[in-house]
Amino acid sequence: MKFYPEEYRIKDQRMKPFIDPEEIWDYLNNTESTKERVREIIAKSLNKERLNLEETAVLVNTKDPELIEEIKQGAKTLKEKVYGNRIVLFAPLYVGNKCTNNCKYCGFRVTNKDAVRQTLSDQELIKEVEALEDNGQKRLILVYGEHQDYSPEFIAENVKTVYSVKKGNGEIRRVNINAAPLDIDGFRIVKESGIGTYQVFQETYHPEEYAKYHLGGKKKDYNYRLTSLDRAQEAGLDDVGIGALFGLYDWRYEVLAMIRHTNHFEACYNVGPHTLSFPRIQDASTIDVDPKYMVNDDDFVKLIAILRLAVPYTGMILTARESIRVRREVMEFGVSQIDGGTKLELGSYHESQNEDQNLNREQFAINDNRSLAEIIDELIDNGFLPSFCTACYRLGRTGEHFMEFSVPGFIKRYCTPNAILTLAEYLEDYATPKVVEKGWKIIDREMADLDNFKRVEELQNRLGRIKSGERDMYF
Ligand code: SAM
Ligand code: SF4
Repeated sequence: MKFYPEEYRIKDQRMKPFIDPEEIWDYLNNTESTKERVREIIAKSLNKERLNLEETAVLVNTKDPELIEEIKQGAKTLKEKVYGNRIVLFAPLYVGNKCTNNCKYCGFRVTNKDAVRQTLSDQELIKEVEALEDNGQKRLILVYGEHQDYSPEFIAENVKTVYSVKKGNGEIRRVNINAAPLDIDGFRIVKESGIGTYQVFQETYHPEEYAKYHLGGKKKDYNYRLTSLDRAQEAGLDDVGIGALFGLYDWRYEVLAMIRHTNHFEACYNVGPHTLSFPRIQDASTIDVDPKYMVNDDDFVKLIAILRLAVPYTGMILTARESIRVRREVMEFGVSQIDGGTKLELGSYHESQNEDQNLNREQFAINDNRSLAEIIDELIDNGFLPSFCTACYRLGRTGEHFMEFSVPGFIKRYCTPNAILTLAEYLEDYATPKVVEKGWKIIDREMADLDNFKRVEELQNRLGRIKSGERDMYF
């Protein structure tokens, strides 16, 4: 499927750096946010059109509280229109924290001599996956430090091991990766193991600031990191996640840079990023970051709403780094995926550890340590439809977020029915009686909204089959 006209594709920019700080600052310094202009841009986005850098800069520069509210409301409307009520759930699984880099914000940095280093053995990995399956998880992201032990072959083996673990009705149906950038052959090896998304965050898109935070190891090379997901694309891995670590540099610059990165993918590879991530820096062992660029909650909500409007077709991820309150608030403005039941300490899903975090064993502090069950309970109370859907990726419908957004009826035909089926499985296998009752009410409500869905009888039939013990049916 061609997303963007052929003539706009700039093939000779592939694998070349694409960030020009001056260009970005020019947009930020020379853009005026009048009422008319801001409203025009929100309307354009609600018409499901991508925003360009200049338009994004106008929104970023908006200071009038009334207009900021309109931006947030625009993002909310767009989210409801494009994604419905679904929130997709996943869990991170830390496999190894050895690291040869020296990133000033991270507890795994090589200079942290107090860090307790560990790599899960196959047996430990299996136990972790079993424990996650026991909670009802279906989608994982495997996380690694950067180290010669974590080769593409090693990661690929881990992926295969994770897929092979089946406990009761549990199984992992999608494995994503957050690890160091690879070369093209490396990405090919990992892709062949059947991963979903490969995430690499640029941390900061500003080259000089980047140099100040990345003091040693391979990650020092800004351009190698910037072009890493181009290499993934060259390897045929077109499902990639980008992100910036907010708090390292001016958030306004990072937002524009993420749009620039998106433009680059669209132009060169005819596909945008699968997901956007916007982690905010959290406390970590030996962290050494000037708080000057920390992003406050108001700006954080604003930047999420702007990203939603600027790239309407892309999944947006918010993790347990954020507090329960912030998570609740921003879910309305564009976030489509969250983690639940998160534990960062290696091996801690299967070994009961202290509830308190030990930062010498973990990458950073988290602010939402609720169980998956508690999160699902709250999502249902707030009218969301929790989903563990993995259908598109397994049926080869890649670029699915783009399809959700552009193909009429896609959500009603696929996303909502699949969310319903995966929630029903969760209710049957893992939920408490209280959640079971609430969950089936949400399913009834969503079924009633599927008025024109032609296969509603088939969906009902499948729900009956789930109650009789059958699993893993999808549209
Ligand atoms: N080691 C690989 C790398 O650096 O690309 C894998 C990623 S790391 C385990 C996952 C992400 O966590 C990093 O890309 C960074 O954005 C984020 N991170 C690191 N330290 C953090 C901190 N103190 N607070 C919040 N996020 C942090
Ligand atoms: Fe290593 Fe990644 Fe942490 Fe940097 S962010 S020290 S590369 S684990």
